[in-house]
Amino acid sequence: MLMDARTDLLLDLNILSRATQKYYDRQLQPFNLTYAQLPVLLMIYESEGITANQIVNQGQYDKGTVTKNVQKLEALGYIESSLSRTDKRLRHLYTTDLAKTVIAQIYAIRRDWWNHLMTAIPCREAPLFLSQTRALVENAIVASNTQSMPLLFYRMERLSARAWPGRLAMVLHVTGCNFRCPGCQQRSRIMLPEDARLLDPGSIREEIDRRSGFVDGIVITGGEPFLQNGLISFLRDLKDKHIPVRIKTNGLFPDPLACCLQEGLVQEVSLEIRNDLQHYAASAGLKSFDPGPLTRSLKLLGNAEISWDAVLEVDDSWFQDSDPGQLAALLADADHIRVINHKRTEQCVDPNLGPMDEHGYRDWKERLEK
Ligand code: SF4
Repeated sequence: MLMDARTDLLLDLNILSRATQKYYDRQLQPFNLTYAQLPVLLMIYESEGITANQIVNQGQYDKGTVTKNVQKLEALGYIESSLSRTDKRLRHLYTTDLAKTVIAQIYAIRRDWWNHLMTAIPCREAPLFLSQTRALVENAIVASNTQSMPLLFYRMERLSARAWPGRLAMVLHVTGCNFRCPGCQQRSRIMLPEDARLLDPGSIREEIDRRSGFVDGIVITGGEPFLQNGLISFLRDLKDKHIPVRIKTNGLFPDPLACCLQEGLVQEVSLEIRNDLQHYAASAGLKSFDPGPLTRSLKLLGNAEISWDAVLEVDDSWFQDSDPGQLAALLADADHIRVINHKRTEQCVDPNLGPMDEHGYRDWKERLEK
């Protein structure tokens, strides 16, 4: 299995949550309770008179979930409510005598589950484990309430003489792509490991300020940069600093591309082309491919007053019946077209994909490159 289990927190949390639910649902059956009602019942027992809103805040629940569980506990006779004397909109919640007769057994069930889990942690490490778990929870609360996603920069090359022909450029690599090309060499960028160390956009901005006198421009590449929510505002910042930008895209995002062209946010575009239109889906790792957005991007670039080039990577699998003539017509407006041959590597999405034979590769180069 290629997934790195060591860092798969998402899956681990999911398994932990489902196992916990299964355990509690089974143990609580004699009380007609389920895992969902348990924390609510304990919160009420430990803070008699608590309100539903306070439960929402303490447990980070949505209101509907709390309302449903409070109603269920009331129907079972474990809790009751009374109107607040000071604020008629509020109801205070209390446990009933019935709850008090079973609560000791419920605490014991909780204690048993804790014991099961903690056998994996040596006693002396338990306090550290608990404080770290609390820190994870606090981070999760903050992050889950954060609306905007910062730019996910994966890597920064401070200086490159190759990324932008004729210029010394800084190169910023972002993560994530809407394709899953079998030939993609950026496996860890499109299947981002949970523990991947991303770069802080603030420190990138500082580095850009430090280097603005030494570099002739910035190249932004991916993954697919236009997937990043913060990209346009980042590009506007660069424009304010008079820093030229070359962007590499797969052409599937004509709207932000149009915005970049209208506002003069990019000075050069490199279009990553995957195949002719009939074979695009397979080369992009998709089941089907709608050529509409790509043809819109090509039209925008064709009408734009900036330089743009197209890069096509050929391989030994997905180009058997492809039509170089169709691609040449599609890319007629490009200033340059470059054809590169796939290299078989371990980092590739499909590590078995090989290069096109030399004769075929030369043919593609001759028919397309300019
Ligand atoms: S479009 Fe580029 S970055 Fe995205 S999956 Fe394909 S090769 Fe990788």
